[in-house]
Amino acid sequence: MISNNLHNAINAQINAELWSAYLYLSMSLDAEAKGYKGIANWFYVQFQEEQAHARIFMNYLNSRDAKVELQPIEEVPTAWDSVLDMFKQTLQHEKKVTSLINNLAAIANEDRDFASINRLVWFIDEQVEEEESAREMVAAFEAVENNKYGMYMLDKDLASRVYNVPSPLATAE
Ligand code: MG
Repeated sequence: MISNNLHNAINAQINAELWSAYLYLSMSLDAEAKGYKGIANWFYVQFQEEQAHARIFMNYLNSRDAKVELQPIEEVPTAWDSVLDMFKQTLQHEKKVTSLINNLAAIANEDRDFASINRLVWFIDEQVEEEESAREMVAAFEAVENNKYGMYMLDKDLASRVYNVPSPLATAE
């Protein structure tokens, strides 16, 4: 059985993942409004991934006979000064999510809840990738700052990003 403590913390994490989805949707729409279709696409894929993260946690609670309780989603910013600012906030946000996931793993560890630890390992690895890709984006946009041609080429490049169903959902029924 999953502990009340971990059950509540995962419910809070579902809310955090949905908030992340909402944040990236907002960035996608702001990028679109600024005329960057490729960047809008990059953030839209991010939006889809965050919804998948929430779904993985929902499936996990269901599989442990623990009810998902949806909570209100706090508002998100709707405009950024620049695309670079969006990616800087993305990196900061993903670092915060990493600490939330680590906290879940610490609770599961304390509970000696090995099934939960096993599920959380996927998220721990995922956060390494999330931080790495956000860091690469910050570096890329710092490199082309104020260079219109560079921005044009980067935007074009990001249009090719596609959403892939994460493995825990690809194998779920
Ligand atoms: Mg996430």
